[in-house]
Amino acid sequence: MQKLRLLSQITVMVILARMMLPGGNFEQWCPFGGVETSFLYFTEDTFTCSLGSSNLYMALAIITLTLISRRSFCSYACPVGTLGEWSGKLRKKVLPKKRWKRWSPPQRVDWWLRKAKYPILAVILYFTFTERELIFRAFDPFYALCSQNGHDITFWSYAILGGLILGAFFIPLPFCRYLCPLAAVLNPFSKVGFLRIRRDHGACVDCTLCDEVCEQGIEVSKEPEITHARCTQCGECITACPLSKALYLGMPGKDKGAPEVGS
Ligand code: SF4
Ligand code: SF4
Repeated sequence: MQKLRLLSQITVMVILARMMLPGGNFEQWCPFGGVETSFLYFTEDTFTCSLGSSNLYMALAIITLTLISRRSFCSYACPVGTLGEWSGKLRKKVLPKKRWKRWSPPQRVDWWLRKAKYPILAVILYFTFTERELIFRAFDPFYALCSQNGHDITFWSYAILGGLILGAFFIPLPFCRYLCPLAAVLNPFSKVGFLRIRRDHGACVDCTLCDEVCEQGIEVSKEPEITHARCTQCGECITACPLSKALYLGMPGKDKGAPEVGS
């Protein structure tokens, strides 16, 4: 699973690098662009700035994917998420094992911080719809990554891109968890996503290794199945589990080892 994910991440990076060459247009494939342009499209049958129907198709495709396998787009394809993840993995390569663990905010603070992405999304959409401009472009780390210093870019795009890469070295995926407006769009669809990580209660030995590797701060070892919207189905918990059948990707259903109700 992790090899497949790495292959997917590298493939997306290579495709993006190709789109950055003269003649390529990476912006037309941005799924968040589809969300940004949706208001003008449905009210006036036109698009915001340089966006087009391909952005809408991308947004629809990723929402459909999310309804099937939650936020797997984030862990398999999003270049911003990939950079954050690789930054966290770099830590394991360069630091001794006793310093691998990154700092995470206390649970209550983490809960509030995770809500920050919703007002951020609301502000972006409000001003994008009313100003008919891509106002997020001035802060967009994806734009900083791919636009080759494109027009409208500001210091803040680079600062956020640098901050999310550097930040992920010290805190698990801070941009994806707390700030990403696309994550805020996908979360309601992810919450009802079909596939989920399931834990076989009978096989699990409560070692909590799965909790330690979850970049989204989910306590996998305490739940029969992971239905949290923020689960990216990265499969790191399955890879970390020492037992071959305790964790698996599956469909809704009864936990194989769960005790009978009333027993
Ligand atoms: S619960 Fe497992 S699959 Fe979901 S985000 Fe955490 S480690 Fe990844
Ligand atoms: S890593 Fe596997 S055995 Fe350990 S707590 Fe998680 S599911 Fe149970």
